[in-house]
Amino acid sequence: MDFDKIVGRVQDFPKKGILFYDLMPVFQDPVSFRALIAEMAKPYLSDSIKKVVGIEARGFILGAPIADRIGAGFVPVRKKGKLPGEVSSLSYQLEYGTDTIEVQAGAIKPGDKVLLVDDLLATGGTARAAIDLIKKQGGEVLCVSVAIELTGIGGRERVAPVPIKSILVYP
Ligand code: 5GP
Repeated sequence: MDFDKIVGRVQDFPKKGILFYDLMPVFQDPVSFRALIAEMAKPYLSDSIKKVVGIEARGFILGAPIADRIGAGFVPVRKKGKLPGEVSSLSYQLEYGTDTIEVQAGAIKPGDKVLLVDDLLATGGTARAAIDLIKKQGGEVLCVSVAIELTGIGGRERVAPVPIKSILVYP
């Protein structure tokens, strides 16, 4: 399926100078949404993935149905303060300042094989932080699966040695 035709482009969002790739039109269309989930899930149908970890918030939209397809559990990684009970946290550097992500304590068991899912990979900073948080719990991230990968800004290098699987690649 030609997802490229359906992905939206929003200039100057969320701030001036940024071209934002918008996957909502893909999610809104039943045929495209199902096809995207099927394509992202396909490589892992016979893998022993225990948990799909989705990154807030669009990673939830993709991660949960992928988990269902491959017979894995779903675990959300959220911004600080959103998850109830005991959590494990990790702070990471942004262009300006820092951000903190959290996962519920015990959601990832030592030795769990994990597929990390988000809508888009850019600098790889978010995925790197999520990988480190999963590692802290004893989980092993087998792959990062994204709908869109932006190249030329170091995403693959930052996430290495974990491989990245993307459906669409934009320079
Ligand atoms: P990174 O940490 O790799 O630089 O940025 C990736 C994170 O920012 C992802 O969680 C993703 O949802 C969000 N993001 C950055 N740019 C875009 C974009 O153009 N479109 C969408 N949908 N998300 C973006």
